[in-house]
Amino acid sequence: MNSADSALVLFSGGQDSTTCLAWALARYKRVETIGFDYGQRHAIELTVRPTVLHKLHGFSPEWNNRLGEDHMIDLSLISKISDTALTSNVEITMLENGLPNTFVPGRNLLFMTVAATVAYRRDLNVLVGGMCETDFSGYPDCRDDTMKALQVALNLGMATNLQVATPLMWIDKAETWKMAQDLGGTALVDLIRSETHTCYLGERGALHDWGYGCGTCPACALRARGYADFIQQ
Ligand code: ZN
Repeated sequence: MNSADSALVLFSGGQDSTTCLAWALARYKRVETIGFDYGQRHAIELTVRPTVLHKLHGFSPEWNNRLGEDHMIDLSLISKISDTALTSNVEITMLENGLPNTFVPGRNLLFMTVAATVAYRRDLNVLVGGMCETDFSGYPDCRDDTMKALQVALNLGMATNLQVATPLMWIDKAETWKMAQDLGGTALVDLIRSETHTCYLGERGALHDWGYGCGTCPACALRARGYADFIQQ
């Protein structure tokens, strides 16, 4: 049986995945990161990634020792096989099936499967993702059951004993800020506030108290409200 002492974190450069990365660095001896370039219409997330990684290396000697290789994977095929508001320049709206048109069908399934392949090669035991059921847009591939089923499917299909860990699954955005505070104090909260990127529109003009962003898209609204709730606690 594998001991769960090393992790591969799905790291996009946003608030959630940065908090997940800090969570993994506090827990596992060896931590690597994986990111996906899938033709996001605003590539800002991808440009903030190296800065966040660099700052996490500098955060403490222990985290510096634990944080290893970053794997950047080209998944541009996603924009070729799907048509969503995240990869094409259309307005963000709700679809008839109740899902927002920012939903990329199968994206997290594909991400986890590719991550499992890299984890296999790198001999890493835990896949860490920022999927969350609590205050998300109802993306079916963020569900706990989806992730649990995928863990079983991956382990059956690859003869592995990988764990899929989703530390944010049952907490809201205010609790995600609180988790960062607990893991790395005000310094980590400030790092996440000023360096990570969440805005769907790729807006990075003014620094608000909750970070950069347009302030009105669903991702910004969620992040801003969560930060306000966190500060009031
Ligand atoms: Zn925004």
